[in-house]
Amino acid sequence: MYSECAVTRDRTTPIPRPVLLNRRTLLKAMVSAGAGVLLVACGDDGLDPFAPPPTSSQAAPQSSPSSPQADVSAPQGEPSADAPDESSADRSAQAQRQAALPEPLVYIIPHPARQGDSVLLLVEAPGAQAASMSWQGQAFSLLKHDDRFVGFVGIDANEQIGPHALGVAVWGPSGEQLLWQETVIEISAVEWTVDDIQIDGPNAALLEPAIRSEDYAAREPFQSTLTPQLHWLGVFDPPSSGEITALYGEQRSFNGGPISEYHTGIDFGGLTGAAVTAANAGIVSWAGQTRRRGNGLIIDHGAGVYSGYYHLSELLQTPGVVVQQRDLIARMGATGLATGPHLHWEVVVRGVTVNPLPWLRLLEFPDPDQELNPANAIAATNLVRG
Ligand SMILES: [Zn+2]
Repeated sequence: MYSECAVTRDRTTPIPRPVLLNRRTLLKAMVSAGAGVLLVACGDDGLDPFAPPPTSSQAAPQSSPSSPQADVSAPQGEPSADAPDESSADRSAQAQRQAALPEPLVYIIPHPARQGDSVLLLVEAPGAQAASMSWQGQAFSLLKHDDRFVGFVGIDANEQIGPHALGVAVWGPSGEQLLWQETVIEISAVEWTVDDIQIDGPNAALLEPAIRSEDYAAREPFQSTLTPQLHWLGVFDPPSSGEITALYGEQRSFNGGPISEYHTGIDFGGLTGAAVTAANAGIVSWAGQTRRRGNGLIIDHGAGVYSGYYHLSELLQTPGVVVQQRDLIARMGATGLATGPHLHWEVVVRGVTVNPLPWLRLLEFPDPDQELNPANAIAATNLVRG
């Protein structure tokens, strides 16, 4: 069954291409994103985030954000770890606290990742105050989750295979930098299925790229924000009791043309009016209508993870409403570009549509609470510790 639930390779917002970032570029990205990142400026060509912790005079917050002498500062809202009048006793005490902290361990799960995967970044750093990551030119804070820091990135179904740069930074309780690590996520290929779909009649007009772009622009702002909370616990639930009729990643052409899109979610078959339920807890971020997706609803699960529900006959929740897992949120339909009633369900991670199957534990679930084996931590080749 066809549904309008694909992204195109020529959409107005291009799929981010992999960029191997050097240290300086990573640092700038982290600063520009303001990701809880404890850096005040980066105007100094000699600045090296992998350098040992700064001396007290270097680390004091600068009076001007453009100061060429700027370096690592204390977290926002926290007292500076290195006030200008800091005594050697203070520095000694800080060094003792830092030495008492276990070495941060960084995990990338799964690794290597596949096209369409949701990659979980876990940093075990008991006693640390903050952590952040940089990925594809963007930087953002990791969420504190007990003694862990947690973040997710989405890998597009057509992402370029090979190594992609990833930066990780961890700060201690006094704002001292514990870790600034550059590593890579290896991305491997998936052989997606290919299908040519026949669309005729009035629906054919909805294949116009302009209508596709209009649809994407209407929804994108409601599924791209990083809400700094985990609203859900545990595995997601299928949002419909219907059978899965189409999988994520299918490479699609229309009416004998070239492949132009891929299927961004999974489809559940059923009857108009069938229950559609929340896959997990969250806050409704959007409920509306577009020409291709018909009636749709998006849930913000936090941490940059969203789920979307489309071609609905009826919307039963409104934006801002808190929903729990399995709450009734809508009814199945065939609105928009659909050849029959079904539910198109997709998962979006950091603005990228990913394979929903891991979220249902049909593939490896990106569980922030999973047990970790230190032997699987990635090598801390650039640990900033004395
Ligand atoms: Zn679909």
